[in-house]
Amino acid sequence: MTDTTRLTCTCGQLAVDVEGPPILSVECCCTSCRAAAAILEQRPGAPKILGAHGTTPFVMYRKDRIRWAAGTADLREHRLSPDAPTRRVVATCCNTPVFLEFAGGHWLSLYAHLWPTAARPPLQLRTMTKDLPPGTSLPTDVPNANTQSARFMVKLLTAWIAMGFRAPKLPLPIAPLDA
Ligand SMILES: [Zn+2]
Ligand SMILES: [Zn+2]
Repeated sequence: MTDTTRLTCTCGQLAVDVEGPPILSVECCCTSCRAAAAILEQRPGAPKILGAHGTTPFVMYRKDRIRWAAGTADLREHRLSPDAPTRRVVATCCNTPVFLEFAGGHWLSLYAHLWPTAARPPLQLRTMTKDLPPGTSLPTDVPNANTQSARFMVKLLTAWIAMGFRAPKLPLPIAPLDA
C-alpha cells in the first residue's frame, strides 16, 4: 500500500490527495515566484506564502501521483504575463495558492503550506538563489543552489523516466483569475 496524504485549502472545500513521497521539497528564490506570491498574498483571506528570506516553499509531485478529490470548480490560474509558460493556481473559495505548473511539465509544484507545518516534507534544497537581493543571507541547513542545481534536474529527470516520459494533462479546466 502506498500512503496517501490528503491536502486541503484553508476552508477545506478543495481536497487533493498525493501518493507516496514527493520528487523534492524545495524553496524557490526566483523573482517570478516572489512577484507572484506578493500578488496572491493580497487576495482576501489568503495565507502568507513567502518565507523569511523571500523564498517560496514548494513540494514537487509527479502529476500521476496527484488526485483531485473535491472542490476543483473554484480553481483559477494566475500568469505573470499573458504568454508566460508558468501558471500559478489558486483555490478562490478562500484564496489559497495551490500549485505552480510549468507548461508541458510532468510534475506540479504544490505550495508547501497545504501541509500542516509538522507534516510538511522536510526541506531538501533552495533553488535560484541568484535572484535574491544582494546581501541576503540564507541559512545553510540545506544546499543553496544558484540556479536549478544538477540534483534538482536529476530528480526531475528520474521522475520523468519513471513516468515513461509522459507529461499527463491536468484533468481540470482552469479559467483565469478575475476573468
Ligand atoms: Zn520560482
Ligand atoms: Zn478554500
